[in-house]
Amino acid sequence: MLTSIVGINWGDEGKGRMVDLLSADYDVVVRYQGGNNAGHTVINDRGKFVMNLLPSGILRPETANVLGPGIVIDLEHLRGEVRRLEEAGIGITPAHLVLSDRATICLPYHKLLDCLEEDRLGDRRFGSTRRGISPVYADKYMKKTLRMGDLLHGESLRQKVEDLLEWKNLTISGGYGHAPIRADEIMAWLEQFGKPFVPFIRDTTSYLAEAAASGKNILFEAQLGALRDIDFGIYPYTSASTTLSAYAPIGAGIPFARLDRSIGIMKAYSSCVGEGPFPCEFFGTDAAALRDAGGEYGAATGRPRRVGGFDVPASRYGVKMQGCDFLALTKLDVLSYMEQIPVCVAYEIDGRRVETFPASIDELCRARPVYESLPGFCCDIGGCRRWEDLPHEAREYIRRLEEAVNCPIRYVSVGAERDAYLRLA
Ligand code: GDP
Ligand code: MG
Repeated sequence: MLTSIVGINWGDEGKGRMVDLLSADYDVVVRYQGGNNAGHTVINDRGKFVMNLLPSGILRPETANVLGPGIVIDLEHLRGEVRRLEEAGIGITPAHLVLSDRATICLPYHKLLDCLEEDRLGDRRFGSTRRGISPVYADKYMKKTLRMGDLLHGESLRQKVEDLLEWKNLTISGGYGHAPIRADEIMAWLEQFGKPFVPFIRDTTSYLAEAAASGKNILFEAQLGALRDIDFGIYPYTSASTTLSAYAPIGAGIPFARLDRSIGIMKAYSSCVGEGPFPCEFFGTDAAALRDAGGEYGAATGRPRRVGGFDVPASRYGVKMQGCDFLALTKLDVLSYMEQIPVCVAYEIDGRRVETFPASIDELCRARPVYESLPGFCCDIGGCRRWEDLPHEAREYIRRLEEAVNCPIRYVSVGAERDAYLRLA
């Protein structure tokens, strides 16, 4: 069984917690895109963890975890993340964690460039996590950066670094006026943070192909949501990589494999981190109430997230782009304080009612939400574990969303802990 777990919205839908839950049935969990700009929160019997780079299956000792070729790896960050887990008693060994030799290394100057550019933009900044993700993906496609496999070839590493810096310093010092980066700095960084990971580096293509051939179950974990996909999201306010399910086998290293199913994680309301059009956004006290109820502060950055009502045009688009077989609806418990729950059923753009998600960022910026209001359930549903336990209004809300996005909802989560969920028939 090859399954992807992907985001329907702008990210932070609760993918990490669903991977933590569903990975019980899987032998391998693979991250296939993005870098340490992810923040996947998992709360289970071992504690509370925020994963940035590591797949959310890392907390199960019997599960293998893979960072595929589609990932960008900041080695210093990975070292810190592994350390934090080790301190919490979670052992990380090459039997448990596999790093693709084709994955791209996110170097310290990528982070520097991210900051220099956001600062240059000032008020027009993108709201980047400043972790170097866009600069390193740009260099990947310029074919001017290092991959994990380069760490296995120490004899040519220095020359590669010198060649890269000769080019990169044209921008860093020539363009931004920052002091040039020296090869010694990068070599020392690679020695300190890269060397300890050498035993973890493997060809994930043969590793995963063998796992699939021997009947093992593989779960592909996405970072961010459909609306942040580089090609199909709200460009240019997207991430720099492909967040979609169809990319999972490629980003994992097994482009010849076919997914058996795609599970979409969809939030019961909207949230978004960073800049860009967000038609359903709440402001003022409405925003503060929802943000506080949902604890909507970035897991990776601590930034307050923008929040709003459920967005049907955006979510229906997300479900379609992810090719979902079914959905998990998350954080339904958060809406329990609302007497009426606003659902955006369409946009109004230049006086027209629009039910599809516009490809044009200019149109999307002019979109105004058309809300319908559904009765709230106004009680604590955190203890519900069966469909029958849910109040009528909560069931109606679920059915309404299911119908609106045209995909069955099979799981509903009602709390952040691993077992706070319902499985619908
Ligand atoms: P991801 O990036 O998609 O993995 O999502 P995040 O972990 O960034 O954000 C989801 C947040 O909601 C985390 O803080 C979770 O602990 C929390 N969470 C997940 N599911 C639920 C739920 O059903 N109810 C509540 N109240 N919180 C949840
Ligand atoms: Mg997150």
